[in-house]
Amino acid sequence: MSDVERLSQMIQAARRIVVFTGAGISTESGIPDFRSPGGIWSRMQPIYFQEFLSDVEKRREAWERAFSGRAGWTGRSPNAGHFAVARLVGAGKASSVITQNVDNLHQDSGVPAEKVIELHGNASYAACLACGLRHELAELKVRFEAGGELPSCQQCGGVVKTATISFGQPMPEGPMARAQEETLACDLFLVLGSSLVVYPAASFPPMAKHRGARLAIVNREPTEQDAIADLVVHGEIGPVMSAAVPAN
Ligand code: NAD
Repeated sequence: MSDVERLSQMIQAARRIVVFTGAGISTESGIPDFRSPGGIWSRMQPIYFQEFLSDVEKRREAWERAFSGRAGWTGRSPNAGHFAVARLVGAGKASSVITQNVDNLHQDSGVPAEKVIELHGNASYAACLACGLRHELAELKVRFEAGGELPSCQQCGGVVKTATISFGQPMPEGPMARAQEETLACDLFLVLGSSLVVYPAASFPPMAKHRGARLAIVNREPTEQDAIADLVVHGEIGPVMSAAVPAN
């Protein structure tokens, strides 16, 4: 039996799947992952949360990057891997998708927003750091480009930032708690496209395993947690998941 057939069997046998995704699921949509050659951090330095708060020039640079789309994680379309995940959720097989991605492509592929747990936020909109009010990038961009105005909250005047979690920024409490709940309740934890080196996100697969769930990993290269997985499929996520979860 091939690894993809094994994966398909594991999925069929599962009653409650949690899908956990990293940058690798979006490379087939044209969004580079972080660590591969040509990845985002080989092209630009990350701006740390403290720098964004304390240094106006860094904040301006962060907004220039966001408005120019230079990081490249907005404006793309979901691929076959995202659609296979959406089928698992649509069929009631997967209860949620925990993602490290900020590209909104799970929602764009048809997974209801309330079933997507975003550990590192979302780059497709902005939010006030003080009161949390959502702001749309297109509106902020007009004022930034017209008068160089750094975005501030329309409601309370607080500092506005893209809704991503930056390096040095605390992990979001609500999503972390929900991710833990979901992880502890699943019987199959399916990792798609994560090198599993970024913590605390990478602590969820061992947590699921420890609780008795099976662990399957699909990635084109080895990950940090292959040794504890019940199944590792080395391949491209789109083709592998299309075969394991056929559309019919
Ligand atoms: P990573 O870059 O560490 O790992 C991605 C993994 O996916 C790598 O092991 C790579 O070999 C594999 N991969 C890439 N394309 C693949 C494909 N088509 N099929 C199978 N495997 C593939 O990414 P990570 O572990 O998710 O963590 C890095 C951080 O990057 C996260 O915090 C996330 O917030 C951020 N990030 C997000 C995006 C996005 O939103 N799309 C893009 C880049 C980085």
